[in-house]
Amino acid sequence: MLQIEPIGIIRNLFSTPTEAENIRSLQSEIELYPSYEAGLLDIEKCRHLEIVYLFHKTERIDLIGKNRNGEVRGIFACRSPFRPNHIGTTTVRFLKRDGNRIYVEGLDAIDGSPVLDIKAGDTTYYEMKGMPVSILHTNPRLEVTRDILEGNMENLLLKAGLLHGHICPELALGVYAGCKIMKKIIESEKNPKKYRIISETDDCPLDGVMFVTGCTPEGRRLRVERTGHVRFTFLDEEGSGWVAQLNDDYALTRKEMLPETVSPEENALRILRVEFDSLFQLYRV
Ligand SMILES: [Zn+2]
Repeated sequence: MLQIEPIGIIRNLFSTPTEAENIRSLQSEIELYPSYEAGLLDIEKCRHLEIVYLFHKTERIDLIGKNRNGEVRGIFACRSPFRPNHIGTTTVRFLKRDGNRIYVEGLDAIDGSPVLDIKAGDTTYYEMKGMPVSILHTNPRLEVTRDILEGNMENLLLKAGLLHGHICPELALGVYAGCKIMKKIIESEKNPKKYRIISETDDCPLDGVMFVTGCTPEGRRLRVERTGHVRFTFLDEEGSGWVAQLNDDYALTRKEMLPETVSPEENALRILRVEFDSLFQLYRV
């Protein structure tokens, strides 16, 4: 016979269901019933915790639900509360402990939710902020993907320099454009590996794009068609995608933007600090 007893209760400012994003941004308190307090020994050593709780305000069960983007999904493919057993789990950040109370950030349970269990969070597998798990499972280029999502372009530029042999402003252009489009692809939950790239230059910017995307001519996902433009077209299997095209006036503005008295490396970093829109046109195809 299955028997589960709550071990405590969740307290926060949200008494009715609201946007998970709102609840998660605030701190929640978890009050453990005194008989379980000994189980909190050394909880301070946990950066993350997994909180298992009950959606106590609902009895409804819908096997078809919606995810946070409003997309229709099976209940086991989304986080809807209308699930069999009405059990919720959330990975949270541990903040502090005060006796039988712990304080956490990121919990999306409402006030009064009964707590069923607390476990040390194991986020070693996907510690990167905002990284879709589907990408983590399949991507051997995790570091690069993380840098793209977190906007660490300087980091990417330095690494691309290893491939390119030197660090120059035009390499930075490729890194910049590649990052911008890869971020769009990843954030739309598309698989970047399903895209192929047409590059209209085989100059320095191409190495930046190749490094950021992992696409090479040998890998058959990159084709170079020289036209004199610095333009990169990313296409998915259906032939739609993104284009980044370097503005025609780059050759003119380059002189003002990148003084010759400054080293190429420093000028490359300058490129990354220029508004993307003043360098490239970015559009859908
Ligand atoms: Zn170069």
